[in-house]
Amino acid sequence: MNTTSPFPLIDPHVHMTSRTTDDYEAMRRAGIVALIEPAFWMGQPRTEAGTFKDYYSHLIGFERFRSSQFGIKHYCTIGLNSKEANNEALAEQVMELLPLYVAKEGVVGVGEIGYDDQTAAEDKYYRLQLEIAKEVNLPVQIHTPHRDKKKGTLRSMEVALEHGLDPGMVIVDHNNEETVKDVLDRGFWAAFTIYPHTKMGNERMVEIVKQYGPERVMINSAADWGISDPLAVPKTVALMLERGIPEEQVQLVSYGNALAAFGQSGQMPESDWLEAQPIDQSQKFSGSSILRGGQTPRIDEANTPTSNIIR
Ligand SMILES: [Zn+2]
Repeated sequence: MNTTSPFPLIDPHVHMTSRTTDDYEAMRRAGIVALIEPAFWMGQPRTEAGTFKDYYSHLIGFERFRSSQFGIKHYCTIGLNSKEANNEALAEQVMELLPLYVAKEGVVGVGEIGYDDQTAAEDKYYRLQLEIAKEVNLPVQIHTPHRDKKKGTLRSMEVALEHGLDPGMVIVDHNNEETVKDVLDRGFWAAFTIYPHTKMGNERMVEIVKQYGPERVMINSAADWGISDPLAVPKTVALMLERGIPEEQVQLVSYGNALAAFGQSGQMPESDWLEAQPIDQSQKFSGSSILRGGQTPRIDEANTPTSNIIR
């Protein structure tokens, strides 16, 4: 299957910090022009607030630069993930950092936040972060639990409504056939993660779009340090087109809806990539380059890859 998309794509949930330069190259080649990296758990539990601070700085700093070196616009959402919310002593300190980061350039939401084990601590920090999102008027990116998903998803939405959030400002992620109807019926955005060989495969995603249509639906890879596929969006796009889903609908779920939802932050104008500077790998970030051992930098002429997208 040819996975190069005939139109530009956005992956609105991918943890690039854990991925390689080959992934960036492959994603760009397949048509991804912009991505959103939610703040999340790193696998190893953090023990100091300072490591959160450096992680958030990395998301808005070096990772954004690294992405730009491959022609992809990098945005992020900032938040305290549900798993680490259970370390309350640490969570308290992280809460003090959040207001400093949510207002930074290129931060398109508060996320990914919500429930993991659905504990009291998770509930407390989820609610506090909903209040931050409301205060700074940013979209919320919700991570729904993998265990007890239906209950956790319903609860995430109920609590968001209880705190007075507009469902149009909330993206509920990791949906499946059991949750999609409830999410769409309540007016929230429904995001779907396409994991390789697991629950939410591409085939099933095709069926969901056929059944529910493309309104307020979006797809992502959620690729991270686990077994995941950074090309999940382009591959699903190719399959949808092959299965006869109209191109405008496929574009909505792989580009337009992510732009509309996270664009409400005011931090993600389309011109960021439509009028992007050409790739120049001779650039450095605080003295660091992505080049190793005398490699020749790729320096594109104005008017190549990102600027000549056919729309
Ligand atoms: Zn994630």
